[in-house]
Amino acid sequence: MRRRLSLDAYEQGVIAHDRAVLARAITLIESREQEDGVLAQALLTRLLPRTGGARRVGITGVPGVGKSTFIDELGMRLIKRGQRVAVLAIDPSSSVSGGSILGDKTRMQRLAVEPQAFIRPSPSSLTPGGIARRTRETMLLCEAAGFEVVLVETVGVGQGETAVSEMVDFFLVLMLPGSGDELQGIKKGVLELADAIAVNKCDGDGAARARLALADLTAALRYLPRRRPGWQVRAMAVSGQTGEGLDDLWQLVEAHRSQLEASGELQTVRADQQRAWLWSLIGERLERAFRDSPEVAKQLHRLEAEVTAGRITPPAAADALLAAFGFSRA
Ligand code: GDP
Repeated sequence: MRRRLSLDAYEQGVIAHDRAVLARAITLIESREQEDGVLAQALLTRLLPRTGGARRVGITGVPGVGKSTFIDELGMRLIKRGQRVAVLAIDPSSSVSGGSILGDKTRMQRLAVEPQAFIRPSPSSLTPGGIARRTRETMLLCEAAGFEVVLVETVGVGQGETAVSEMVDFFLVLMLPGSGDELQGIKKGVLELADAIAVNKCDGDGAARARLALADLTAALRYLPRRRPGWQVRAMAVSGQTGEGLDDLWQLVEAHRSQLEASGELQTVRADQQRAWLWSLIGERLERAFRDSPEVAKQLHRLEAEVTAGRITPPAAADALLAAFGFSRA
């Protein structure tokens, strides 16, 4: 059906900032066909020297916090300053809900029609591990295609945030003015990944509440462990709707980057990102091999049912399945 391009054509198209080729290269990376996989990895190997230049920023927050409005406004501001912006959206719940809620490009109305922007939702058919791996590789393709900013968006419900924090340089958590993160469905662990926390919707009637929430948060931040030794997590009040605070926020992203560069930490961060990529590949391939094993498949369904019914413990079922896979404890 879909014809593959040659390796050279993918490579040259991406380097030449050809959006149509970039989109096809991402489709290649998302493909589950083995031949596509081989070609995709060869392409990444060629493009790797051209990666690493972008500002990699993760943005998370519960549905309704205003992520799309925020990204639309931030993206347009960056584009006005001459930067090209890629937005990659991860939605781990989409495979459950049946359709990707982030797949709707109308969520970012101005960016969606902006030639200097590129929006790519994650395919809803993959496992969370698979989504994370492909998002990472898509990010690298976007960097090779010359995007100076890559924004990776996730729904802040815990799944996927750790993976995203491992692939970006700066992790931003958006919150609503209110008290207590648990009320907002944000897991505490997600806050611990943050380099900055933005209280959103600081406008109109909500402005006073947002500023109050900011004061509470700023006080609470003193007790959060630092994600990086040299960086104090900041909280600020912003409005994706009016743009309030967005320039300051971006200055913070730049300050963070300068600090990483000045301290030499950027190299460590990049090395950690490469290591996380390696392990996510190993994990994903092992899991696929495990699930594809006929011996495992014979028992998987039954043992899963027994575990959920409480008739057998998960460790016992895991032992049985891993033994069927040919893996036994030393
Ligand atoms: P998402 O689900 O996190 O992507 O949130 P959306 O960007 O779709 O916004 C959810 C709702 O909040 C929409 O009705 C928006 O109009 C509204 N909203 C988003 N950002 C702001 C903001 O900065 N201020 C106000 N007052 N409303 C906002």
